[in-house]
Amino acid sequence: MSEFSLLSNVIRDLEYVAGIIELDRDILEFLKVPKRVLEVSIPVKMDDGHLEIFTGYRVQHNDARGPCKGGVRYHPKVTLDEVKALAMIMTWKCAVHDLPYGGAKGGVVCNPKEMSTEEIERLTRRYTFMIADFIGPFRDVPAPDLYTGPREMAWMMDTYSQLKGYLVPEVVTGKPTCIWGSEGRTGATGRGVAICAREVVKALNIRGRVTVAIQGFGNVGFNAAKTLYDMGFRIIGVSDSKGGIYSLEGLNPYKLMAHKKATGSVVGFEGARTITNEELLALKCDILIPAAIENVLTSRNADIIEARAVVEGANGPTTHEAAKILRERNVLVVPDILANGGGVTVSYLEWIQNLHREHWSLDEVHKRLEERMVRVFWEVYKNSVENGRDMRTEAMVIAVKRVAEAVKTLGIWP
Ligand code: GLU
Repeated sequence: MSEFSLLSNVIRDLEYVAGIIELDRDILEFLKVPKRVLEVSIPVKMDDGHLEIFTGYRVQHNDARGPCKGGVRYHPKVTLDEVKALAMIMTWKCAVHDLPYGGAKGGVVCNPKEMSTEEIERLTRRYTFMIADFIGPFRDVPAPDLYTGPREMAWMMDTYSQLKGYLVPEVVTGKPTCIWGSEGRTGATGRGVAICAREVVKALNIRGRVTVAIQGFGNVGFNAAKTLYDMGFRIIGVSDSKGGIYSLEGLNPYKLMAHKKATGSVVGFEGARTITNEELLALKCDILIPAAIENVLTSRNADIIEARAVVEGANGPTTHEAAKILRERNVLVVPDILANGGGVTVSYLEWIQNLHREHWSLDEVHKRLEERMVRVFWEVYKNSVENGRDMRTEAMVIAVKRVAEAVKTLGIWP
């Protein structure tokens, strides 16, 4: 099995935890595979008049604890195996956060950076149309992920609603606030990551001005940086796909975002030194936040990490092998299913608001997110200390036990 296949990584994690909790073999085999997979070939008329066929997926891993939940990503490197892995990660994420959901994921193989707004709209609407029977407010609720956001969710909701003949806001989350989206949803994943980083500082008793390095400056990286900066943390390094920057005095994420918007990258920011992505990962700092894509920390670089803790903003940034090395080196890893669960937590709050036709204030959403993130963080942290296990393992233990119990209690249909 390749270290760099996300699917083999999540299966190895599951097998490892199954051994620890002595999970029934049948349940283990059941949980290794998704419940349902849908592949669609999406015809889209491009602006120049030619027809392009895009491949799209929606994978539902498990729905024992509630409707499936998970984002849709647009990326040229999307594969069915990756979407299967991400759907499984969503099952564990919703379980560890005790949300009444199972796990799902969607993906379309495309490069939105090279497409016009109209092309992306046609693609999104046609994809939604083709998965419409597969999703639903009590079946499977999509949300944003890599290169999708409120705009795409508005088109998805509208297409689904047109098909039904009435407005169905609760079919997707992460919508714009003017059409039933929740306040605070866009920044929620990064905010949750920042809350976890703050709790890590308390847990490890780190003193003085806390230093942070962030890999990835998209929605999650930026919102984590912003929230941490406002909390008084010092962001000493940031990178994106074009390279990284470093400043011991600290970077202002608001100004950095303005620079990125103007130039297309964080590189070249005034007063900062240019560094490589690899150098960013190796920065001596208190907290490292990988907030971009999977397989960033691997057996090839896990021994160069100088941070005291890794808080995972991305899904699957640390391979199974790298996690072992970090565990041996005593680097605390707050795993993705815990650390980046702020997004799906606020998705849940959005879904509740939609079902009740309510709209809560930003303060209300922030308060509920804060309470939930802090509660789950300490539950995992305390259990990990008591049981002498790392947080990645402990979070999985809690999640797999919850899902397995639900599966067992429901029974498998003959
Ligand atoms: N795509 C996000 C994630 O990976 C959010 C999913 C959701 O809100 O359903 O957690």
